[in-house]
Amino acid sequence: MNYPPSIDALIEALKGMPGVGGRSAEKLALWFLSHKKRNPIDLAEALVNSTTQIQLCELCGFFQEKEETCSACRESEKHPHTICVVEKASDVLSMSRSNTLKSGYHVLGGKLSPLDNITPEDLNIESLIKRVKGLVSENQPIEVILALGADIEAQATAQFIANRLTKLSSLCSVTQLAQGLAAGTSLSHADGLTLKHAFDGRKKIS
Ligand SMILES: [Zn+2]
Repeated sequence: MNYPPSIDALIEALKGMPGVGGRSAEKLALWFLSHKKRNPIDLAEALVNSTTQIQLCELCGFFQEKEETCSACRESEKHPHTICVVEKASDVLSMSRSNTLKSGYHVLGGKLSPLDNITPEDLNIESLIKRVKGLVSENQPIEVILALGADIEAQATAQFIANRLTKLSSLCSVTQLAQGLAAGTSLSHADGLTLKHAFDGRKKIS
């Protein structure tokens, strides 16, 4: 025996979401059905709205509500001399919520990965070059902070972008977040790349 088709369809729709396998999808579907007071219509509307009303900003790659100004671009206007480059749109929020940085943002939309056929043309690199060109043409010094991951693909992406940007103008400096050992990590558990970053990012102790 199976569930009625509508429930099966709900289970199918939920299955495959991050962290949701067949059993979890079934549990969630039954939870929705038994908690109707929580108004699943609101959830359905939020899902439809977020998927139809949200697009990626053509300038910086962040999420943008259709026909509204991009909030990351507004932030960039406040801090025109610093652009923090991140891999994913959600990284903008992580950086912004950390309150450690006053900067504009640029989202690459991924990282270079020859194995997955992801080339520079697949990422928002040209739009970044264009932004930086525009700023240095006004004789403004600018710092581009590459806040990408510590894995090999992210590092190759950072290197590629750094090579492109440093050729543009001496007014453009490119920096990268210091990376290294996570708090509580012992040296014996760190891999070679992490240790290299930890050494490269070492600071003087006064
Ligand atoms: Zn934007």
